[in-house]
Amino acid sequence: MITRLSELFLRTLREDPADAEVPSHKLLVRAGYVRRAAPGIYTWLPLGLRTVRNIENVVREEMDAIGGQEMLFPALLPREPYEASDRWTEYGDNLFRLKDRKGADMLLGPTHEEMFTQAVKDMYSSYKDFPVTLYQIQTKYRDEERPRAGVLRGREFTMKDSYSFDMTDEGLDESYARHRKAYQRIFDRLGIDYTICQATSGAMGGSASEEFLAISEVGEDTFVRATDGDYAANVEAVVTQVPEERSIEDQPEAQVHSTPESPTIDTLVEWANEAGMEVDGRKVEASDTLKCMVIKTAQPVADAEDEEREWELAAVLIPGDRALDEKRLEASLEPVEFELASDEDFERNGFLVKGYVGPKALNTNGVKVYADPRVVKGSAWITGADAPNQHVTNLVAGRDFEVDEYIEAAEIKEGDPAPEGQGTLTLERGIELGHIFQLGRKYTEAFNVQILDENGKRAVPTMGSYGIGVTRLLAVLAEQRHDDKGLRWPVEVAPFKVHVAVANKDAAAMEAGKKLVDELDDAGLEVLFDDRPKVSPGVKFKDAELLGMPFAAILGRAFKDGKIELRIRGGETFEVPADQAVDKLLELVREGK
Ligand code: ATP
Ligand code: MG
Repeated sequence: MITRLSELFLRTLREDPADAEVPSHKLLVRAGYVRRAAPGIYTWLPLGLRTVRNIENVVREEMDAIGGQEMLFPALLPREPYEASDRWTEYGDNLFRLKDRKGADMLLGPTHEEMFTQAVKDMYSSYKDFPVTLYQIQTKYRDEERPRAGVLRGREFTMKDSYSFDMTDEGLDESYARHRKAYQRIFDRLGIDYTICQATSGAMGGSASEEFLAISEVGEDTFVRATDGDYAANVEAVVTQVPEERSIEDQPEAQVHSTPESPTIDTLVEWANEAGMEVDGRKVEASDTLKCMVIKTAQPVADAEDEEREWELAAVLIPGDRALDEKRLEASLEPVEFELASDEDFERNGFLVKGYVGPKALNTNGVKVYADPRVVKGSAWITGADAPNQHVTNLVAGRDFEVDEYIEAAEIKEGDPAPEGQGTLTLERGIELGHIFQLGRKYTEAFNVQILDENGKRAVPTMGSYGIGVTRLLAVLAEQRHDDKGLRWPVEVAPFKVHVAVANKDAAAMEAGKKLVDELDDAGLEVLFDDRPKVSPGVKFKDAELLGMPFAAILGRAFKDGKIELRIRGGETFEVPADQAVDKLLELVREGK
Protein backbone atom coordinates (compact mmCIF):
# COMPACT_ATOMS: atom_id res chain seq x y z
CA MET A 1 0.00 0.00 0.00
CA ILE A 2 1.26 3.43 -0.93
CA THR A 3 0.20 6.61 0.83
CA ARG A 4 1.32 9.94 -0.57
CA LEU A 5 2.22 12.66 1.88
CA SER A 6 0.84 15.17 -0.61
CA GLU A 7 -2.58 13.61 0.00
CA LEU A 8 -2.40 12.27 3.55
CA PHE A 9 -4.73 13.95 6.04
CA LEU A 10 -1.93 15.33 8.18
CA ARG A 11 -0.55 18.60 9.54
CA THR A 12 2.60 18.28 11.56
CA LEU A 13 3.26 20.92 14.22
CA ARG A 14 6.62 22.46 15.01
CA GLU A 15 5.48 23.59 18.47
CA ASP A 16 4.53 21.42 21.40
CA PRO A 17 0.83 21.59 22.31
CA ALA A 18 0.29 23.76 25.37
CA ASP A 19 -1.51 21.11 27.41
CA ALA A 20 1.09 18.37 26.91
CA GLU A 21 3.62 17.55 29.58
CA VAL A 22 5.07 14.19 28.69
CA PRO A 23 7.10 13.51 25.52
CA SER A 24 4.79 10.86 24.06
CA HIS A 25 1.80 13.19 24.28
CA LYS A 26 3.69 16.09 22.68
CA LEU A 27 5.02 13.94 19.86
CA LEU A 28 1.81 12.10 19.07
CA VAL A 29 0.02 15.43 18.69
CA ARG A 30 2.85 17.15 16.82
CA ALA A 31 3.27 14.23 14.43
CA GLY A 32 -0.44 14.18 13.65
CA TYR A 33 -1.34 10.82 15.19
CA VAL A 34 -4.03 12.08 17.56
CA ARG A 35 -6.07 15.20 18.20
CA ARG A 36 -7.79 16.17 21.40
CA ALA A 37 -11.58 16.23 21.23
CA ALA A 38 -12.19 16.85 24.96
CA PRO A 39 -10.14 16.24 28.11
CA GLY A 40 -9.02 12.60 28.02
CA ILE A 41 -10.84 11.99 24.73
CA TYR A 42 -8.90 11.77 21.48
CA THR A 43 -9.55 11.49 17.78
CA TRP A 44 -7.40 9.01 15.90
CA LEU A 45 -6.00 10.54 12.72
CA PRO A 46 -4.97 8.25 9.84
CA LEU A 47 -1.41 7.65 11.05
CA GLY A 48 -2.54 7.02 14.61
CA LEU A 49 -5.34 4.70 13.61
CA ARG A 50 -3.01 2.55 11.50
CA THR A 51 -0.65 2.29 14.46
CA VAL A 52 -3.39 1.26 16.90
CA ARG A 53 -4.61 -1.35 14.43
CA ASN A 54 -1.11 -2.82 14.20
CA ILE A 55 -0.86 -3.05 17.98
CA GLU A 56 -4.32 -4.63 18.10
CA ASN A 57 -3.16 -7.23 15.62
CA VAL A 58 -0.17 -8.26 17.70
CA VAL A 59 -2.47 -8.61 20.71
CA ARG A 60 -5.08 -10.48 18.66
CA GLU A 61 -2.57 -12.95 17.23
CA GLU A 62 -1.22 -13.84 20.65
CA MET A 63 -4.69 -14.14 22.17
CA ASP A 64 -5.79 -16.40 19.32
CA ALA A 65 -2.61 -18.43 19.82
CA ILE A 66 -3.70 -19.38 23.35
CA GLY A 67 -7.14 -20.34 22.15
CA GLY A 68 -8.96 -17.11 22.95
CA GLN A 69 -12.14 -16.53 20.93
CA GLU A 70 -12.75 -12.97 19.91
CA MET A 71 -16.20 -11.46 20.27
CA LEU A 72 -17.55 -7.99 20.86
CA PHE A 73 -19.93 -6.67 23.47
CA PRO A 74 -21.58 -3.29 23.18
CA ALA A 75 -20.00 -0.36 25.00
CA LEU A 76 -23.46 0.99 25.83
CA LEU A 77 -24.84 -1.31 28.50
CA PRO A 78 -27.90 -1.77 30.70
CA ARG A 79 -27.66 -1.19 34.42
CA GLU A 80 -28.96 -4.57 35.63
CA PRO A 81 -25.87 -6.76 35.24
CA TYR A 82 -23.78 -4.12 36.98
CA GLU A 83 -26.39 -3.93 39.69
CA ALA A 84 -26.05 -7.69 40.21
CA SER A 85 -22.31 -7.38 40.80
CA ASP A 86 -22.72 -4.21 42.87
CA ARG A 87 -20.42 -2.31 40.56
CA TRP A 88 -23.16 0.11 39.49
CA THR A 89 -22.48 1.66 42.90
CA GLU A 90 -18.96 0.51 43.72
CA TYR A 91 -17.46 2.00 40.60
CA GLY A 92 -18.29 5.39 42.07
CA ASP A 93 -17.60 8.54 40.06
CA ASN A 94 -15.48 6.70 37.49
CA LEU A 95 -18.54 5.21 35.84
CA PHE A 96 -20.20 7.06 32.97
CA ARG A 97 -23.92 6.68 33.73
CA LEU A 98 -26.72 7.86 31.47
CA LYS A 99 -30.44 7.44 30.90
CA ASP A 100 -32.26 6.43 27.76
CA ARG A 101 -35.42 8.24 26.56
CA LYS A 102 -37.62 6.02 28.70
CA GLY A 103 -35.65 6.88 31.76
CA ALA A 104 -33.87 3.53 32.05
CA ASP A 105 -30.37 3.63 33.52
CA MET A 106 -27.53 2.80 31.18
CA LEU A 107 -23.76 2.94 31.41
CA LEU A 108 -20.72 3.05 29.18
CA GLY A 109 -18.70 -0.06 29.95
CA PRO A 110 -15.53 0.46 32.01
CA THR A 111 -14.78 -3.30 31.83
CA HIS A 112 -17.02 -6.24 31.00
CA GLU A 113 -16.79 -9.04 33.60
CA GLU A 114 -20.55 -8.93 34.08
CA MET A 115 -21.38 -9.27 30.39
CA PHE A 116 -19.04 -12.20 29.77
CA THR A 117 -20.24 -14.00 32.89
CA GLN A 118 -23.84 -13.58 31.88
CA ALA A 119 -23.17 -14.77 28.33
CA VAL A 120 -21.48 -17.93 29.62
CA LYS A 121 -24.35 -18.53 32.02
CA ASP A 122 -26.94 -18.15 29.26
CA MET A 123 -25.15 -20.26 26.68
CA TYR A 124 -23.34 -23.02 28.58
CA SER A 125 -24.60 -25.63 31.03
CA SER A 126 -22.27 -28.63 31.01
CA TYR A 127 -18.69 -29.15 32.20
CA LYS A 128 -17.97 -30.43 28.67
CA ASP A 129 -18.20 -26.85 27.43
CA PHE A 130 -15.26 -25.82 29.60
CA PRO A 131 -12.63 -24.43 29.74
CA VAL A 132 -13.33 -21.44 27.56
CA THR A 133 -11.42 -18.19 27.02
CA LEU A 134 -13.23 -15.25 25.46
CA TYR A 135 -11.91 -11.85 24.62
CA GLN A 136 -12.69 -8.59 22.93
CA ILE A 137 -10.83 -5.50 21.81
CA GLN A 138 -13.23 -2.83 22.87
CA THR A 139 -13.57 0.86 23.59
CA LYS A 140 -13.85 1.45 27.33
CA TYR A 141 -15.13 4.46 29.21
CA ARG A 142 -13.98 5.65 32.60
CA ASP A 143 -14.53 9.11 33.96
CA GLU A 144 -10.99 9.25 35.35
CA GLU A 145 -10.39 11.81 38.05
CA ARG A 146 -7.21 12.96 36.35
CA PRO A 147 -7.06 12.14 32.65
CA ARG A 148 -3.44 12.63 31.78
CA ALA A 149 -0.71 12.52 29.20
CA GLY A 150 -2.91 12.17 26.14
CA VAL A 151 -3.93 8.62 25.40
CA LEU A 152 -1.82 7.27 28.26
CA ARG A 153 -4.74 7.84 30.64
CA GLY A 154 -7.84 8.62 28.67
CA ARG A 155 -11.51 8.69 29.54
CA GLU A 156 -12.17 6.74 26.34
CA PHE A 157 -9.58 4.11 25.48
CA THR A 158 -9.18 0.74 23.83
CA MET A 159 -8.65 -2.31 25.98
CA LYS A 160 -8.19 -5.94 25.19
CA ASP A 161 -10.07 -7.73 27.91
CA SER A 162 -10.22 -11.48 28.17
CA TYR A 163 -11.90 -13.82 30.59
CA SER A 164 -11.21 -17.48 31.27
CA PHE A 165 -13.81 -19.85 32.66
CA ASP A 166 -12.66 -23.13 34.20
CA MET A 167 -14.40 -25.79 36.25
CA THR A 168 -11.41 -26.35 38.55
CA ASP A 169 -8.85 -24.25 40.38
CA GLU A 170 -6.07 -26.12 38.58
CA GLY A 171 -7.72 -25.19 35.30
CA LEU A 172 -7.70 -21.55 36.33
CA ASP A 173 -3.99 -21.81 37.17
CA GLU A 174 -3.38 -23.09 33.65
CA SER A 175 -5.47 -20.40 31.99
CA TYR A 176 -3.65 -17.80 34.04
CA ALA A 177 -0.24 -19.20 33.11
CA ARG A 178 -1.18 -19.22 29.42
CA HIS A 179 -2.22 -15.58 29.59
CA ARG A 180 0.97 -14.68 31.39
CA LYS A 181 3.01 -16.22 28.58
CA ALA A 182 0.87 -14.54 25.91
CA TYR A 183 1.42 -11.19 27.59
CA GLN A 184 5.17 -11.77 27.68
CA ARG A 185 5.10 -12.58 23.97
CA ILE A 186 3.06 -9.49 23.18
CA PHE A 187 5.30 -7.10 25.09
CA ASP A 188 8.46 -8.80 23.81
CA ARG A 189 7.26 -8.56 20.23
CA LEU A 190 6.55 -4.88 20.72
CA GLY A 191 9.99 -4.35 22.19
CA ILE A 192 8.73 -2.83 25.44
CA ASP A 193 10.96 -2.59 28.49
CA TYR A 194 8.75 -3.99 31.26
CA THR A 195 8.60 -5.80 34.59
CA ILE A 196 6.06 -8.23 35.99
CA CYS A 197 4.97 -7.14 39.44
CA GLN A 198 2.84 -8.69 42.11
CA ALA A 199 -0.33 -6.69 42.22
CA THR A 200 -2.29 -7.71 45.25
CA SER A 201 -1.20 -8.33 48.76
CA GLY A 202 0.16 -11.72 49.77
CA ALA A 203 -3.11 -12.67 51.42
CA MET A 204 -4.50 -13.55 48.00
CA GLY A 205 -1.59 -15.81 47.09
CA GLY A 206 1.55 -14.78 45.28
CA SER A 207 0.58 -15.38 41.67
CA ALA A 208 -3.10 -14.57 41.85
CA SER A 209 -2.66 -11.13 40.39
CA GLU A 210 0.19 -9.57 38.49
CA GLU A 211 0.70 -6.33 36.63
CA PHE A 212 2.92 -5.76 33.64
CA LEU A 213 4.56 -2.38 34.14
CA ALA A 214 6.49 -0.47 31.50
CA ILE A 215 9.51 1.11 33.09
CA SER A 216 9.10 4.85 32.65
CA GLU A 217 9.84 8.00 34.60
CA VAL A 218 6.49 9.47 33.62
CA GLY A 219 4.60 6.48 35.04
CA GLU A 220 2.03 6.97 37.76
CA ASP A 221 2.67 3.62 39.37
CA THR A 222 5.51 3.10 41.76
CA PHE A 223 6.86 -0.39 42.05
CA VAL A 224 9.58 -2.00 44.11
CA ARG A 225 12.28 -4.47 43.27
CA ALA A 226 14.40 -6.50 45.66
CA THR A 227 18.15 -5.95 45.53
CA ASP A 228 18.87 -9.67 46.04
CA GLY A 229 16.13 -11.66 44.39
CA ASP A 230 13.37 -11.55 41.84
CA TYR A 231 10.67 -10.05 44.03
CA ALA A 232 8.93 -7.14 42.31
CA ALA A 233 5.63 -5.61 43.32
CA ASN A 234 3.44 -2.62 42.85
CA VAL A 235 3.79 -0.45 45.99
CA GLU A 236 0.10 -1.01 46.59
CA ALA A 237 0.85 -4.71 47.02
CA VAL A 238 3.84 -4.41 49.32
CA VAL A 239 3.10 -5.95 52.68
CA THR A 240 4.79 -4.39 55.69
CA GLN A 241 6.86 -6.77 57.74
CA VAL A 242 5.26 -6.85 61.13
CA PRO A 243 7.62 -6.49 64.09
CA GLU A 244 7.19 -8.84 67.02
CA GLU A 245 4.67 -7.92 69.66
CA ARG A 246 6.12 -6.68 72.92
CA SER A 247 4.84 -7.37 76.36
CA ILE A 248 2.79 -4.54 77.81
CA GLU A 249 3.88 -5.50 81.30
CA ASP A 250 6.73 -3.53 82.88
CA GLN A 251 6.69 -0.73 80.33
CA PRO A 252 7.01 2.73 81.83
CA GLU A 253 3.85 4.77 82.31
CA ALA A 254 2.73 7.11 79.60
CA GLN A 255 3.68 10.67 80.41
CA VAL A 256 2.29 13.95 79.11
CA HIS A 257 4.77 16.76 78.41
CA SER A 258 4.43 20.38 77.51
CA THR A 259 6.10 20.81 74.09
CA PRO A 260 5.36 24.36 72.94
CA GLU A 261 8.11 24.62 70.35
CA SER A 262 7.48 21.26 68.69
CA PRO A 263 4.79 21.47 66.04
CA THR A 264 6.51 19.13 63.54
CA ILE A 265 7.95 15.61 63.72
CA ASP A 266 11.49 17.00 63.36
CA THR A 267 11.09 19.51 66.17
CA LEU A 268 9.39 16.86 68.30
CA VAL A 269 12.36 14.50 67.86
CA GLU A 270 14.72 17.36 68.68
CA TRP A 271 12.74 18.15 71.81
CA ALA A 272 12.79 14.49 72.93
CA ASN A 273 16.53 14.20 72.48
CA GLU A 274 17.19 17.50 74.26
CA ALA A 275 15.05 16.23 77.10
CA GLY A 276 17.41 13.23 77.28
CA MET A 277 14.91 10.60 76.24
CA GLU A 278 16.09 7.28 74.82
CA VAL A 279 14.54 4.28 73.09
CA ASP A 280 16.23 0.92 73.73
CA GLY A 281 19.42 2.77 74.65
CA ARG A 282 19.60 4.93 71.53
CA LYS A 283 18.52 8.42 70.59
CA VAL A 284 14.92 9.09 69.67
CA GLU A 285 14.18 8.96 65.93
CA ALA A 286 11.25 10.04 63.82
CA SER A 287 10.16 6.39 63.59
CA ASP A 288 9.51 6.45 67.36
CA THR A 289 6.83 9.07 66.90
CA LEU A 290 3.30 8.40 65.73
CA LYS A 291 1.28 10.55 63.37
CA CYS A 292 -2.48 10.42 63.68
CA MET A 293 -3.87 11.33 60.29
CA VAL A 294 -7.55 12.17 60.48
CA ILE A 295 -9.58 11.10 57.47
CA LYS A 296 -13.20 10.45 56.69
CA THR A 297 -14.56 7.44 54.87
CA ALA A 298 -17.78 6.71 53.00
CA GLN A 299 -19.41 3.95 51.03
CA PRO A 300 -19.46 4.83 47.33
CA VAL A 301 -22.73 6.14 45.90
CA ALA A 302 -24.04 5.71 42.38
CA ASP A 303 -24.85 9.35 41.76
CA ALA A 304 -22.62 11.83 43.49
CA GLU A 305 -24.91 14.74 42.77
CA ASP A 306 -28.18 13.33 44.02
CA GLU A 307 -26.97 11.37 46.97
CA GLU A 308 -25.00 12.79 49.82
CA ARG A 309 -22.20 10.56 50.90
CA GLU A 310 -22.39 9.63 54.52
CA TRP A 311 -18.95 10.50 55.74
CA GLU A 312 -17.61 8.97 58.91
CA LEU A 313 -14.58 10.18 60.75
CA ALA A 314 -11.60 7.80 60.96
CA ALA A 315 -7.89 8.02 61.59
CA VAL A 316 -4.76 6.33 60.31
CA LEU A 317 -1.79 5.91 62.64
CA ILE A 318 1.56 5.98 60.90
CA PRO A 319 5.14 6.07 62.20
CA GLY A 320 6.43 9.65 62.05
CA ASP A 321 9.25 8.92 59.59
CA ARG A 322 6.75 8.00 56.88
CA ALA A 323 4.20 9.87 54.84
CA LEU A 324 0.69 8.63 54.24
CA ASP A 325 0.62 7.06 50.77
CA GLU A 326 -2.85 7.91 49.53
CA LYS A 327 -2.74 5.31 46.74
CA ARG A 328 -1.89 2.55 49.21
CA LEU A 329 -4.62 3.74 51.52
CA GLU A 330 -7.08 3.86 48.64
CA ALA A 331 -6.18 0.31 47.59
CA SER A 332 -6.54 -0.91 51.17
CA LEU A 333 -9.94 0.70 51.72
CA GLU A 334 -11.47 -0.01 48.32
CA PRO A 335 -14.38 0.22 47.53
CA VAL A 336 -14.77 2.48 50.56
CA GLU A 337 -13.78 6.03 49.62
CA PHE A 338 -11.82 8.46 51.74
CA GLU A 339 -10.82 12.10 52.03
CA LEU A 340 -8.46 13.85 54.38
CA ALA A 341 -10.38 15.62 57.13
CA SER A 342 -11.04 19.28 56.37
CA ASP A 343 -10.71 22.29 58.67
CA GLU A 344 -14.47 22.12 59.10
CA ASP A 345 -14.24 18.53 60.27
CA PHE A 346 -11.74 19.62 62.89
CA GLU A 347 -13.97 22.49 63.97
CA ARG A 348 -17.02 20.29 64.16
CA ASN A 349 -15.23 17.75 66.36
CA GLY A 350 -13.80 19.64 69.29
CA PHE A 351 -11.81 16.65 70.55
CA LEU A 352 -9.56 16.85 67.47
CA VAL A 353 -6.75 19.22 68.39
CA LYS A 354 -5.00 20.07 65.17
CA GLY A 355 -1.32 19.16 65.26
CA TYR A 356 -1.76 17.31 68.56
CA VAL A 357 -4.25 14.57 67.73
CA GLY A 358 -3.51 11.42 69.69
CA PRO A 359 -4.98 7.92 69.65
CA LYS A 360 -6.64 8.31 73.01
CA ALA A 361 -9.17 10.95 72.00
CA LEU A 362 -9.91 8.89 68.89
CA ASN A 363 -10.65 5.81 70.99
CA THR A 364 -12.75 7.71 73.51
CA ASN A 365 -14.84 9.40 70.84
CA GLY A 366 -15.55 6.27 68.85
CA VAL A 367 -13.45 7.22 65.84
CA LYS A 368 -12.37 4.15 63.89
CA VAL A 369 -8.61 3.75 64.24
CA TYR A 370 -6.68 2.20 61.37
CA ALA A 371 -2.98 1.67 61.98
CA ASP A 372 0.19 0.75 60.18
CA PRO A 373 1.22 -2.83 61.03
CA ARG A 374 4.26 -1.52 62.91
CA VAL A 375 1.91 -0.23 65.60
CA VAL A 376 1.86 -3.76 67.09
CA LYS A 377 0.65 -4.56 70.53
CA GLY A 378 3.22 -3.40 73.03
CA SER A 379 4.90 -0.84 70.76
CA ALA A 380 5.50 2.50 72.55
CA TRP A 381 5.11 5.87 70.87
CA ILE A 382 5.63 9.58 71.23
CA THR A 383 2.49 11.21 69.91
CA GLY A 384 -0.07 13.96 70.34
CA ALA A 385 -1.73 14.32 73.75
CA ASP A 386 -5.00 15.81 72.46
CA ALA A 387 -4.27 19.22 73.94
CA PRO A 388 -2.53 22.24 72.41
CA ASN A 389 1.26 22.13 72.73
CA GLN A 390 1.26 18.77 74.48
CA HIS A 391 2.71 15.44 73.54
CA VAL A 392 2.71 12.14 75.30
CA THR A 393 5.57 9.66 75.55
CA ASN A 394 5.46 5.90 76.13
CA LEU A 395 1.96 5.59 74.82
CA VAL A 396 1.70 1.83 74.41
CA ALA A 397 -0.51 0.12 71.83
CA GLY A 398 -2.85 -2.37 73.45
CA ARG A 399 -2.40 -0.74 76.83
CA ASP A 400 -3.08 2.97 76.39
CA PHE A 401 -4.94 2.82 73.11
CA GLU A 402 -6.56 0.31 70.77
CA VAL A 403 -6.23 -0.25 67.04
CA ASP A 404 -9.45 -1.21 65.27
CA GLU A 405 -7.87 -2.42 62.05
CA TYR A 406 -4.37 -2.76 60.62
CA ILE A 407 -3.94 -1.29 57.19
CA GLU A 408 -1.28 -0.76 54.52
CA ALA A 409 -1.21 2.99 54.09
CA ALA A 410 2.31 4.17 54.96
CA GLU A 411 4.70 5.04 52.17
CA ILE A 412 7.27 2.44 51.12
CA LYS A 413 10.81 3.76 51.27
CA GLU A 414 13.91 2.92 49.30
CA GLY A 415 15.96 0.61 51.52
CA ASP A 416 12.99 -0.98 53.33
CA PRO A 417 13.56 -4.71 53.85
CA ALA A 418 12.46 -6.97 50.98
CA PRO A 419 10.46 -10.10 51.84
CA GLU A 420 12.10 -13.51 52.27
CA GLY A 421 15.52 -12.05 52.95
CA GLN A 422 15.89 -10.75 49.39
CA GLY A 423 17.86 -7.71 50.52
CA THR A 424 16.22 -4.31 50.41
CA LEU A 425 13.73 -2.59 48.16
CA THR A 426 14.47 -0.11 45.40
CA LEU A 427 11.75 2.13 44.04
CA GLU A 428 11.02 2.65 40.36
CA ARG A 429 8.27 4.20 38.30
CA GLY A 430 6.18 2.48 35.70
CA ILE A 431 3.09 2.55 33.56
CA GLU A 432 0.60 -0.30 33.88
CA LEU A 433 0.35 -2.04 30.51
CA GLY A 434 -1.68 -4.99 31.55
CA HIS A 435 -3.11 -6.85 34.47
CA ILE A 436 -3.77 -10.57 34.89
CA PHE A 437 -5.98 -11.60 37.73
CA GLN A 438 -7.39 -14.80 39.17
CA LEU A 439 -10.85 -13.52 39.92
CA GLY A 440 -12.20 -16.79 41.25
CA ARG A 441 -15.94 -17.22 41.68
CA LYS A 442 -16.91 -13.68 42.62
CA TYR A 443 -18.85 -13.01 39.42
CA THR A 444 -19.97 -16.54 38.66
CA GLU A 445 -21.50 -16.68 42.12
CA ALA A 446 -23.04 -13.23 41.87
CA PHE A 447 -24.69 -14.34 38.61
CA ASN A 448 -25.51 -17.78 39.96
CA VAL A 449 -23.78 -19.64 37.12
CA GLN A 450 -24.57 -23.33 37.64
CA ILE A 451 -22.85 -25.93 35.52
CA LEU A 452 -23.39 -29.69 35.66
CA ASP A 453 -20.13 -31.45 36.49
CA GLU A 454 -19.04 -35.00 35.59
CA ASN A 455 -21.19 -36.43 38.38
CA GLY A 456 -24.27 -34.52 37.36
CA LYS A 457 -23.86 -32.14 40.29
CA ARG A 458 -24.09 -28.40 40.05
CA ALA A 459 -20.80 -26.53 40.20
CA VAL A 460 -19.75 -22.92 39.82
CA PRO A 461 -16.96 -22.18 37.33
CA THR A 462 -13.98 -20.06 38.33
CA MET A 463 -12.81 -17.06 36.36
CA GLY A 464 -9.72 -15.15 35.38
CA SER A 465 -9.78 -11.61 34.06
CA TYR A 466 -6.99 -10.19 31.94
CA GLY A 467 -6.62 -6.69 30.48
CA ILE A 468 -4.23 -4.84 28.21
CA GLY A 469 -4.45 -1.14 27.46
CA VAL A 470 -4.11 -1.12 23.67
CA THR A 471 -4.14 2.63 23.14
CA ARG A 472 -2.00 3.07 26.23
CA LEU A 473 0.52 0.68 24.65
CA LEU A 474 0.86 3.05 21.73
CA ALA A 475 1.68 5.92 24.10
CA VAL A 476 4.13 3.72 26.00
CA LEU A 477 5.95 2.82 22.79
CA ALA A 478 6.15 6.51 21.95
CA GLU A 479 7.39 7.22 25.45
CA GLN A 480 10.07 4.53 25.58
CA ARG A 481 11.36 4.85 22.04
CA HIS A 482 11.32 8.51 21.00
CA ASP A 483 14.34 10.78 20.69
CA ASP A 484 14.61 14.57 20.52
CA LYS A 485 13.70 14.51 16.83
CA GLY A 486 10.54 12.49 17.01
CA LEU A 487 8.89 9.09 17.17
CA ARG A 488 10.63 5.81 16.45
CA TRP A 489 8.25 2.91 15.91
CA PRO A 490 9.14 -0.75 16.01
CA VAL A 491 8.65 -2.38 12.60
CA GLU A 492 5.57 -4.38 13.59
CA VAL A 493 3.76 -1.33 14.85
CA ALA A 494 4.87 1.41 12.45
CA PRO A 495 1.97 2.72 10.34
CA PHE A 496 4.29 2.44 7.33
CA LYS A 497 7.45 0.41 7.15
CA VAL A 498 9.34 2.68 4.77
CA HIS A 499 9.24 6.43 4.33
CA VAL A 500 10.42 7.37 0.84
CA ALA A 501 11.31 11.04 0.32
CA VAL A 502 12.21 12.73 -2.91
CA ALA A 503 14.58 15.53 -1.95
CA ASN A 504 15.96 16.48 -5.32
CA LYS A 505 14.36 18.84 -7.84
CA ASP A 506 15.45 16.66 -10.74
CA ALA A 507 12.40 15.17 -12.49
CA ALA A 508 14.30 11.90 -12.82
CA ALA A 509 14.50 11.68 -9.02
CA MET A 510 10.70 11.92 -8.78
CA GLU A 511 10.36 9.23 -11.45
CA ALA A 512 12.80 6.99 -9.61
CA GLY A 513 10.95 7.66 -6.37
CA LYS A 514 7.69 6.54 -7.93
CA LYS A 515 9.34 3.44 -9.29
CA LEU A 516 10.84 2.63 -5.89
CA VAL A 517 7.54 2.95 -4.03
CA ASP A 518 5.80 0.81 -6.66
CA GLU A 519 8.39 -1.90 -6.26
CA LEU A 520 8.22 -1.76 -2.48
CA ASP A 521 4.45 -1.96 -2.72
CA ASP A 522 4.68 -4.97 -5.05
CA ALA A 523 6.93 -6.60 -2.46
CA GLY A 524 4.14 -6.15 0.09
CA LEU A 525 5.52 -3.26 2.11
CA GLU A 526 3.43 -0.35 3.33
CA VAL A 527 5.08 2.80 2.07
CA LEU A 528 4.71 6.46 2.93
CA PHE A 529 5.81 8.52 -0.05
CA ASP A 530 6.89 12.12 0.47
CA ASP A 531 6.16 13.36 -3.03
CA ARG A 532 5.39 16.95 -2.00
CA PRO A 533 6.78 19.09 -4.81
CA LYS A 534 7.37 22.41 -3.09
CA VAL A 535 8.68 21.30 0.27
CA SER A 536 12.38 21.73 1.06
CA PRO A 537 14.61 18.70 1.74
CA GLY A 538 15.22 20.00 5.28
CA VAL A 539 11.52 20.00 6.11
CA LYS A 540 11.07 16.56 4.55
CA PHE A 541 13.90 15.13 6.65
CA LYS A 542 12.50 16.69 9.80
CA ASP A 543 9.04 15.29 9.09
CA ALA A 544 10.48 11.84 8.39
CA GLU A 545 12.12 11.89 11.81
CA LEU A 546 9.07 13.26 13.55
CA LEU A 547 6.69 10.69 12.03
CA GLY A 548 9.04 7.90 13.04
CA MET A 549 8.87 5.19 10.35
CA PRO A 550 11.65 2.67 11.01
CA PHE A 551 13.34 3.11 7.62
CA ALA A 552 13.64 6.00 5.20
CA ALA A 553 14.86 6.01 1.62
CA ILE A 554 16.00 9.41 0.38
CA LEU A 555 16.38 10.33 -3.25
CA GLY A 556 18.57 13.33 -2.64
CA ARG A 557 21.98 14.63 -3.61
CA ALA A 558 23.55 11.24 -4.21
CA PHE A 559 20.85 10.39 -6.70
CA LYS A 560 22.83 11.99 -9.55
CA ASP A 561 25.42 9.25 -8.88
CA GLY A 562 22.70 6.61 -9.05
CA LYS A 563 22.53 6.18 -5.28
CA ILE A 564 19.74 6.16 -2.76
CA GLU A 565 20.36 7.02 0.87
CA LEU A 566 18.87 4.63 3.42
CA ARG A 567 18.30 5.82 6.97
CA ILE A 568 17.52 3.60 9.89
CA ARG A 569 15.47 5.72 12.30
CA GLY A 570 17.67 6.33 15.31
CA GLY A 571 20.52 4.37 13.72
CA GLU A 572 22.93 4.49 10.81
CA THR A 573 22.65 6.09 7.39
CA PHE A 574 24.23 4.63 4.27
CA GLU A 575 24.00 4.74 0.49
CA VAL A 576 23.11 1.90 -1.87
CA PRO A 577 22.95 1.78 -5.66
CA ALA A 578 19.41 2.64 -6.70
CA ASP A 579 18.71 -0.82 -8.09
CA GLN A 580 19.60 -2.47 -4.79
CA ALA A 581 17.42 -0.29 -2.59
CA VAL A 582 14.35 -2.56 -2.66
CA ASP A 583 16.25 -5.68 -1.66
CA LYS A 584 18.11 -3.87 1.06
CA LEU A 585 14.89 -2.38 2.49
CA LEU A 586 13.16 -5.75 2.41
CA GLU A 587 16.05 -7.22 4.32
CA LEU A 588 15.96 -4.42 6.89
CA VAL A 589 12.22 -4.80 7.41
CA ARG A 590 12.54 -8.55 7.76
CA GLU A 591 15.25 -8.26 10.39
CA GLY A 592 13.91 -5.13 11.96
CA LYS A 593 12.78 -4.68 15.51
P1 ATP B 1 -4.74 2.23 36.29
O1 ATP B 1 -4.26 1.80 37.63
O2 ATP B 1 -3.65 2.71 35.38
O3 ATP B 1 -5.93 3.14 36.35
P2 ATP B 1 -6.47 -0.03 36.18
O4 ATP B 1 -5.96 -0.83 37.30
O5 ATP B 1 -7.66 0.81 36.36
O6 ATP B 1 -5.26 0.90 35.61
P3 ATP B 1 -7.50 -2.27 34.68
O7 ATP B 1 -8.87 -2.01 35.14
O8 ATP B 1 -6.78 -3.47 35.16
O9 ATP B 1 -6.61 -0.97 34.91
O10 ATP B 1 -7.51 -2.22 33.08
C1 ATP B 1 -6.67 -3.03 32.26
C2 ATP B 1 -5.70 -2.18 31.46
O11 ATP B 1 -6.36 -1.11 30.78
C3 ATP B 1 -4.66 -1.49 32.31
O12 ATP B 1 -3.60 -2.36 32.58
C4 ATP B 1 -4.23 -0.34 31.41
O13 ATP B 1 -3.23 -0.75 30.49
C5 ATP B 1 -5.48 0.00 30.65
N1 ATP B 1 -6.14 1.21 31.18
C6 ATP B 1 -6.81 1.35 32.35
N2 ATP B 1 -7.28 2.59 32.48
C7 ATP B 1 -6.90 3.28 31.38
C8 ATP B 1 -7.09 4.62 30.93
N3 ATP B 1 -7.78 5.50 31.65
N4 ATP B 1 -6.55 4.98 29.73
C9 ATP B 1 -5.86 4.09 28.98
N5 ATP B 1 -5.66 2.81 29.36
C10 ATP B 1 -6.16 2.40 30.54
MG1 MG C 1 -7.86 2.81 36.77
